[in-house]
Amino acid sequence: MGTAVAALATQAGKRPIVFRLKDSGIPRADTLRNQGWLQSGIMYPIAAFQGDEVRFQNFARSTFQSGRGMLKSIGLPIPDDNGIVGINKDDSRRIGKLNRRAELIGFSIDQFRQLEPDEARNQLEALYNPKQLYFRIPDLPFDEAKVLERLRSKAIENGAKFFQTEAPVTISKHGSVTRINFDGQTIESSVTLIAAGSGSFDLLKQLGITANGKLRLTPLLVGQTDPVLPASIFIDWGMGYSAVQHRYTDDRNPARPIVVGGGDATRLKNAKHCLYENREFREEHLHELHNCLPAPLTDRLSDVRYTAGYEVIPDQYGVSEFGPWIQEFGNVVFASPGRATVATDAAIKTWGKLTTKLNGNKKIPIPHSIPGNWTEPIKMHFQKIYTFNDAEG
Ligand SMILES: Cc1cc2nc3c(=O)[nH]c(=O)nc-3n(C[C@H](O)[C@H](O)[C@H](O)COP(=O)(O)OP(=O)(O)OC[C@H]3O[C@@H](n4cnc5c(N)ncnc54)[C@H](O)[C@@H]3O)c2cc1C
Repeated sequence: MGTAVAALATQAGKRPIVFRLKDSGIPRADTLRNQGWLQSGIMYPIAAFQGDEVRFQNFARSTFQSGRGMLKSIGLPIPDDNGIVGINKDDSRRIGKLNRRAELIGFSIDQFRQLEPDEARNQLEALYNPKQLYFRIPDLPFDEAKVLERLRSKAIENGAKFFQTEAPVTISKHGSVTRINFDGQTIESSVTLIAAGSGSFDLLKQLGITANGKLRLTPLLVGQTDPVLPASIFIDWGMGYSAVQHRYTDDRNPARPIVVGGGDATRLKNAKHCLYENREFREEHLHELHNCLPAPLTDRLSDVRYTAGYEVIPDQYGVSEFGPWIQEFGNVVFASPGRATVATDAAIKTWGKLTTKLNGNKKIPIPHSIPGNWTEPIKMHFQKIYTFNDAEG
């Protein structure tokens, strides 16, 4: 989020400075700790929009456009890929819900359709369950690290600085400016964006602001599979898991990692913020995650470890957990995209709020003594370079 806003700010001739924690040994950003799933909106429950079908429709349509628009705008191809959802044949309620959502979004037959039984059996092989119906959905994995690298390059080329800190930045309010303390130094900022993911609530608290939201701890299983999954995104709604298999292979990613998430019972709904390196799960959440997984999936898994992701969940009426939550507090703006899929759209909205504040405020130049020092290749948590396991501890 911060990187996307910085890219926009530089296009408007501003020179922002972005502070972030270093990724050495472990990624310290939830963007680098998620499933890397470019979402189409079809899996979002209409209940999350207070049951309002029109709100769901607008939201899901803009999610679909926004994700694809993000890739296009930075010159990345849209992968020729899709997802498959399995639903138990006797679960007419869920089948009805999925069909209704597809109808509301207005997907074409290429984007959404029920698979014929033979087609499903051939495609899914060992994962095929004769008690389920299968649907093709226009959801696909995306290379989030590459998206971030492109946004970072754009921003740096045009004068942004990214500074990686050893310890979390702290902030305080001094009259109309915000004082930013990082690694023993201090600078002042006339307009400040807090887009620190799960760290945002702590930073807001330092300014005396309580945000109306919670953190949700969501475990992900990370591993390799042999053979690969029959679809890049495979959701078993009956068992309650979703699996994303990244198929782009390059020197960063010699294998084809799989990232698996479970249902609600695997998540801790009111988690306390803690630093990325201190994250861990309750034993029962891991059991729940494994309970969701069928033998044909676990049989093909190897190199398994776990990543604890923190989702920022708004408590406010009208703001859904899947979309941008942007709030202004004087010369400070807080922003969370909800989903990485909509990050660049969320950045446009956020930048709109920041611009009006910048126009009326004095400029505080960035001291030359602060180097721009975030230049190394960006890596997702599931890449082989990382070996951390948040389930230990
Ligand atoms: C388990 C999980 C799975 C998800 N799966 C998907 C998915 O498949 N598709 C999707 O679209 N969305 C997904 N999401 C949501 C998505 O990952 C987030 O909405 C998005 O990444 C948040 O981006 P952000 O920039 O707000 O936060 P982050 O990426 O967390 O960035 C915050 C930055 O702030 C820095 N920071 C924090 N505190 C401080 C501090 N005090 N000092 C200095 N720096 C600080 C961090 O180092 C980090 O660089 C998932 C989320 C989770 C948790």
